[in-house]
Amino acid sequence: MAEENSWPGGFCKQGGRRQSPIDIRTEDVITDFKKDFITNGPLKFVGYQVVLMNGINNGHTIQFSTEGDESMHPTLTGGPLKHSYRLEQLHFHWLSEHAINGAKFPMEIHFVHIRADLKVSEALNRKDGLAIVSVFCNVKSELNEHQLETTEELLQHIPHLMKTGSRHNGVILDLTRLLSPDRRSYFTYLGSLTSPECNEVVVWIVFSKPIYISDDQYRFFSKVGVGRHNFRSLQKLNHHLVYQPPPSFIKTPTAVLMMGDAVKVVKSFFQNVTRFMSNGFSSSDS
Ligand SMILES: [Zn+2]
Repeated sequence: MAEENSWPGGFCKQGGRRQSPIDIRTEDVITDFKKDFITNGPLKFVGYQVVLMNGINNGHTIQFSTEGDESMHPTLTGGPLKHSYRLEQLHFHWLSEHAINGAKFPMEIHFVHIRADLKVSEALNRKDGLAIVSVFCNVKSELNEHQLETTEELLQHIPHLMKTGSRHNGVILDLTRLLSPDRRSYFTYLGSLTSPECNEVVVWIVFSKPIYISDDQYRFFSKVGVGRHNFRSLQKLNHHLVYQPPPSFIKTPTAVLMMGDAVKVVKSFFQNVTRFMSNGFSSSDS
């Protein structure tokens, strides 16, 4: 990843008022009893069960994009969203980009949606042009069968995508398995893209409850050729107001700390990465 301070786009440098990612401090989160922000009921995911996608390692991350006719793509409505949003792609960050009370997760998956009534170029210039759903991944040494099924379907494709430029087409995925097990518990705020040009056009929906991957699955990512790391640094809190649905819809927010297992795995993961780097791999891959 190129140095962040050399990223193109004015918003990436100074002057942005709603830059992402942020550290979500749960004591500052507004529970939206008055429906000031979460005005449209529960989130509604339609068509996420059978999704035709193609995978690519684009040198920054591994990304799966929706294929085929747009009218067939999954859509997201409800929650803070005043429009319908169409799924474009999902991709991974390791470590996570967002933090909760200062704690990061081993991984974060971003489901990037575009407002269905806009072209991509238009959406990139509207304050609510994109909706990105974020799912944290925690790492466990042993997954139960259900947890393994959840992620194996997607992660089995990762070995095909280790090198920059590699592609893997015609993958059919059940994306409901990758969403948080509790879709009523989330944080939401108006923020930005976390890569150039950092446009301030994103309605973020960050699930508070993570999914689990195994440490074997996670270790694969330390070997994926995307340079040193692929998360943007936390942005300073400015005019961000973070909301959550009222308690009638949510259970008590789960404490989201890195468990013992995860800390160990993350440590060895970054030792591997460092070794990888010192073998002469260039970090400026953009
Ligand atoms: Zn992302």
